[in-house]
Amino acid sequence: MELPEAVIIGDETFNKENLSLFIKKRAFLLTGPNVSNIFESKISSALSGFDYKKAIVESSTYEEAEKIYREKFDVNSEAVIGFGGGKVLDVAKYLGYKAGIQVISIPTSASNDGIASPFSSLKGGIHPYSLKVKPPRGVIVDLSVIMKAPKRYILSGLGDLLGKFTSTRDWKLAWIEKGEYFGEYASKLAYESAKHAMISTKGIEDLKYSSVRNLMEALISAGVAGGIAGSSRPLSGSEHLISHALDIIAPEKGTHGEKVALSTVLIAYLYGMNWKKIKAKMQEVGLPVSFLQIGVKREEVLEAVTLAPSLRPERYTILHKLNLTKDEVSNILDEINI
Ligand SMILES: [Zn+2]
Repeated sequence: MELPEAVIIGDETFNKENLSLFIKKRAFLLTGPNVSNIFESKISSALSGFDYKKAIVESSTYEEAEKIYREKFDVNSEAVIGFGGGKVLDVAKYLGYKAGIQVISIPTSASNDGIASPFSSLKGGIHPYSLKVKPPRGVIVDLSVIMKAPKRYILSGLGDLLGKFTSTRDWKLAWIEKGEYFGEYASKLAYESAKHAMISTKGIEDLKYSSVRNLMEALISAGVAGGIAGSSRPLSGSEHLISHALDIIAPEKGTHGEKVALSTVLIAYLYGMNWKKIKAKMQEVGLPVSFLQIGVKREEVLEAVTLAPSLRPERYTILHKLNLTKDEVSNILDEINI
């Protein structure tokens, strides 16, 4: 098991005192273009007294991560500090892994479960899914920062968590039918994080401080479930494969969590789970409840669902088992109306 050593959650936690728990002198800061502007004074006050170099992450591709490593990275850094959204944290974890140094994850939104997980999702690599790296050594969640993120990104984190209802079922299926290792505890932890998110939905809709904190804790414990399992199995099943396929077929449409949530409704239907309840929750909080709402056409969904199992043939899921045709998928979409 590889887990973060310290998780600090609270108000105004991105500060010098907390960074000093991990770094003595030198650090490499990765951040996003908007975040860098919005939180300019917060960054300089938290990092005052440290010797640091900084790079801006525009996109989470291998090419960009490698370019930053070649041209900007300071090999004498004690840590990579990732202060930003999912893209920044993915690149930060990759650089930390490559350089063999610790990563401090400081998310600026609740958009996905990568905050504390040992996985880095970079596009343009040999695989369209995530790479196993080290988990961040420290996770600092500053709620005063997260609360400033657009509501859509907070809901996206909720959508990513809903996916754990079906990813854990796929994992169990692979154990039953293929004899794959199945970690009961890691699976329960991931499943609970989805349930936990369902309970706080009302508050998340109104962006209540305590609900957003709950959501962040659920995202962190989901990531930790991945660390316990030693694979992304508890976090990512067929619903993520459809989301990855949509990244290829209909790029830049919808957020990760929105795609995962919609795909979760479909996979929950295939498992005979209560997909209506999941969809109703999505509607209640303001997540999109149809692919068209995020600009993905019916034909693109059909293509994505049928392409999905081939993206990871070795990772057995219900989509591998059923091998659905486009006609079958189309009938299901009619029935569940997404
Ligand atoms: Zn995800």
